[in-house]
Amino acid sequence: MDILRSRADCQRLEALRRSSKPLVLVPTMGALHEGHLTLVRCASGLGPVVVSIFVNPAQFGPKEDYSAYPRDLERDLALLHELDVAAVFAPTMDDIYPCSEGVMVQPGPAALELCGRDRPGHFRGVLTVVAKLFNLVRPQIAVFGRKDAQQCLVIAEMVRDLAMPVRLLDHPTVREADGLAMSSRNAYLSTAERQRALVLRRALAAVRQELVRGQRRCLELQATLRRELVPADAVEYAEVRRIPDLAPLRDATGRLLVAVAARVGRTRLIDNLVLCVDDAGVHEIPLLSDVEVLI
Ligand code: AMP
Repeated sequence: MDILRSRADCQRLEALRRSSKPLVLVPTMGALHEGHLTLVRCASGLGPVVVSIFVNPAQFGPKEDYSAYPRDLERDLALLHELDVAAVFAPTMDDIYPCSEGVMVQPGPAALELCGRDRPGHFRGVLTVVAKLFNLVRPQIAVFGRKDAQQCLVIAEMVRDLAMPVRLLDHPTVREADGLAMSSRNAYLSTAERQRALVLRRALAAVRQELVRGQRRCLELQATLRRELVPADAVEYAEVRRIPDLAPLRDATGRLLVAVAARVGRTRLIDNLVLCVDDAGVHEIPLLSDVEVLI
């Protein structure tokens, strides 16, 4: 496993590009958990894998947890050593942000909704770092987690609008045995909060059940989400939106994102369901439908 620490080190990826299989990038902010590792295992079935590890300051708001965000590169490298990873790209700040007032990527419409309302500038930071990672690693495929569904859609808009030569895949959300979506931020939860955090999953399950029973009114479905989320300390959003533009809907039909963001204690958690609702029923589907399904 090659460890790339700078822009210049990325030249060593040339050898991997000569592989008959596509070069696959899995971008992360480190503090790796089983969710990340599952993405990496899937990615390594597609071609040589580069995992990037960079805690991106540009995607954190001034009151967010940038400085407290967990960092342990040695541990992350030890975990990745056990997997089939060709290279880890762990760049320095200067390699990613050589200029403090540098060029940033302006997101498209999907960034204005949901997390975009609560975290102004977040997706601008995400797209800027993802564009740089794509340019430095030049992957043919990039794998992202469906847990961050809006992030996937906003990145897909960038790839389409800026004509980036990369295919995107969204991997299903990896969960703990009791259903909690795995997240580096789960480490912040106390034992009692960890139990309460299950309300996000329960709220999504309740909406799915209502859809299966035939409820199609988004206002009713959103009211169910809010009711189920009462044990959380604050609800940032609880919405049923259209895929891919995240526009609000009156009736829940077609491709839908059921998305929640809530605080449990001081920890902000998100979770979602990606569904197709049609005459055939209610089905979970991949988010990025124009690319091959990973699993
Ligand atoms: P992060 O380190 O939080 O930026 O996450 C890196 C990548 O892993 C992103 O594409 C996330 O969507 C993905 N990811 C994080 N947690 C999960 C999870 N529980 N299931 C699936 N993908 C995840």
